[in-house]
Amino acid sequence: MSDEISGRTAVITGASSGIGEATAHTLAAAGARVALLARRSDRIEALARELGGDTIAVTADVTDRASLEQAAARVHDELGGADILINNAGQMLLSPFGPDYAQETRRMVEINLLGAMTTTEVFLDQLRDGGGDLVNISSVAGRTAGKGSSVYNATKWGLNGWSEALRQELLPDVRVIVVEPGAVDTELTDHITHPRSQEGARAMYEKVEALTSQDIADVIAFAVGRPRRVAINEVLIRPSKQPL
Ligand code: NDP
Repeated sequence: MSDEISGRTAVITGASSGIGEATAHTLAAAGARVALLARRSDRIEALARELGGDTIAVTADVTDRASLEQAAARVHDELGGADILINNAGQMLLSPFGPDYAQETRRMVEINLLGAMTTTEVFLDQLRDGGGDLVNISSVAGRTAGKGSSVYNATKWGLNGWSEALRQELLPDVRVIVVEPGAVDTELTDHITHPRSQEGARAMYEKVEALTSQDIADVIAFAVGRPRRVAINEVLIRPSKQPL
């Protein structure tokens, strides 16, 4: 692993499970100080104890600006400020588009898109101070689109467009890195409430042999570990068997 990670402070949203949790393990093993953000305090507190060292658990909801501001204050005071921000918190509530799912539509926009924006606003000064990395966890759904996934697609396409503009605004002080995974075996599909969409997603994940969270954590660690003159701006990573 690269020395570019050791001694830096990484803030990970959605660190209580899946990709965020695996990334916390990987960056901590590479010598980073890690701030674990999520709503499930018990999970991130247990993970912080497991990782030890300079790891802190900070209960925060990315739809609640005040909780993010408190998190930024703690990261500043206890870990010296964020060098790496990983906007990973997200939900994939697949369903047909319509009024029955209006709440889920708003929830996905609030978490996946506005949540990443608010978190970045709150940590931006810390990232700019001394060469930062902003990693946005998008999806193959930010590059493709399909029926039953329209709002999730909209949030991830939105994330990609925002990231590209931000990349141009923030260079060279902050490197913007977009990671677009295909199917990854995590809790993500557990939250889908539309039964046929959930069955379809689970069947697809099984058929293509979904990636592991560690596969994505490895990509994130590789990207943020490059020397400052190198910017890996976008990585699309699918299971070899996934067609779309
Ligand atoms: P998980 O469901 O395991 O993780 C999602 C994380 O997001 C949880 O830690 C959850 O923590 C957190 N989260 C959800 N809502 C909020 C909120 N309001 N505030 C703070 N944290 C929140 O799924 P994954 O690890 O798969 O998902 C991580 C990211 O990867 C998501 O952005 C997802 O869209 C993306 N992705 C996943 C793919 C997959 O196939 N799994 C494919 C492509 C992209 P808590 O509930 O404790 O708050």
